[in-house]
Amino acid sequence: MTFHSEHKMDFSLNSDQLAIQEAAREFALGEVEPIVDEIDEAQRFPREVMMKAGELGFLGVIFPEELGGAGLGYVEYVLVITELSKVDPSVGISVAAHNSLCSNHIYKFGDEEQRRRWLGPLARGEKIGAWSLTEPGAGSDAAGTRTRARKVDGGWILDGAKTFTTHGSVGDICVVFAVSDPDGRRHHNISAFVLEKGMEGFRPGKKENKLGIRASDTAEVVMENCFVPDDHLLGEAGEGFIQALQILDGGRISIAALGLGTAIGAYETARAYACERQQFGRRIADFQAISFALAEMATRIAASEILTLNAALVMDRGDPVTRLAAEAKLHTGETAVFCSERGVQIHGGYGLIKDYRAEKYYRDAKICTIGEGTSEIQRMVIARSLLKGR
Ligand SMILES: Cc1cc2nc3c(=O)[nH]c(=O)nc-3n(C[C@H](O)[C@H](O)[C@H](O)COP(=O)(O)OP(=O)(O)OC[C@H]3O[C@@H](n4cnc5c(N)ncnc54)[C@H](O)[C@@H]3O)c2cc1C
Repeated sequence: MTFHSEHKMDFSLNSDQLAIQEAAREFALGEVEPIVDEIDEAQRFPREVMMKAGELGFLGVIFPEELGGAGLGYVEYVLVITELSKVDPSVGISVAAHNSLCSNHIYKFGDEEQRRRWLGPLARGEKIGAWSLTEPGAGSDAAGTRTRARKVDGGWILDGAKTFTTHGSVGDICVVFAVSDPDGRRHHNISAFVLEKGMEGFRPGKKENKLGIRASDTAEVVMENCFVPDDHLLGEAGEGFIQALQILDGGRISIAALGLGTAIGAYETARAYACERQQFGRRIADFQAISFALAEMATRIAASEILTLNAALVMDRGDPVTRLAAEAKLHTGETAVFCSERGVQIHGGYGLIKDYRAEKYYRDAKICTIGEGTSEIQRMVIARSLLKGR
């Protein structure tokens, strides 16, 4: 048995893993496929799909059952994100940001009471999670955060604005990073807080109108004189940025799965078209140029699968995964962009037409080389690791 049924690889999935992969595939085809074009065109966040995903355990895959999760690991998580992203990368990234950014931050760094309060509703899909690190002036250089948290009696006052938050306008629970010690050491002066929809002084800002993954909500979030009680601080004050780096290791594996699903979706769509479309009296798949493009896509997908699954396996073993996660995200993100571009080419003029899915994969794929650290930042992470001590 293999990770992606078409390839004969050494990775074996057990029967539980195959069952969750099948469940995610059925869910994607049954619940997501019929609305893909509508939610893309309207930029509509499909909350009803997220609620159903919650009922099936897809919004709490990696959390213990006693906290409302499915009690599974990163391998299962990667399988779910891949299957969803094959059908709609918008839904893939929403489920990924909800699980491995917001919920996982609360799970990893929250105390027992914080986990009990917030994780259950998130894992069941009753609440949508967001994670706000990026600011207009602090993207790749996230330590350049300017949002401030000032200590007051019983809590903190937050002031500032975040940009590009997935679920920024539809989210119910948002992990927000703010400088809590302006004179503190770089990387040890930022804290992470849980903010809830409806808190005074906390509101969504502009919702972005995007090239791709249009059904995934992306918006600013704004804090204006926002009082946040002490029991909303996650872990130690000043450790938020270090926490974020650890969270991004897991997040990058999920973006690798997003890229993998996007690449497979683009490839399968292009292969089906190439086998149907006739020119010069034969199907275009029989032209070497087209079949070689498909071969190149399939090979890059195979490498992406191995990198992604390997990173997930190592994560589940509890071993260091920073470099593996960066490698998986880098290769898979670039593969998604490559395959979706080839997919459009194989469709010829129809590749630009919205009656076909090729153009949507092309638009959706680009986030994979940008979100949770650009390809350049992944290369920096990998290079730092391979040159360490040399
Ligand atoms: C749809 C979408 C959803 C997102 N969701 C979230 C979210 O939920 N939460 C969140 O916190 N953020 C989110 N982001 C933000 C995302 O993580 C950032 O956009 C990304 O990290 C890049 O930051 P930036 O956009 O400021 O680009 P910049 O950092 O300004 O980068 C611009 C260019 O310069 C390059 N560059 C920067 N520094 C270096 C360097 N040292 N060496 C070489 N090249 C460099 C970059 O690779 C890039 O090509 C989202 C973004 C998008 C578009």
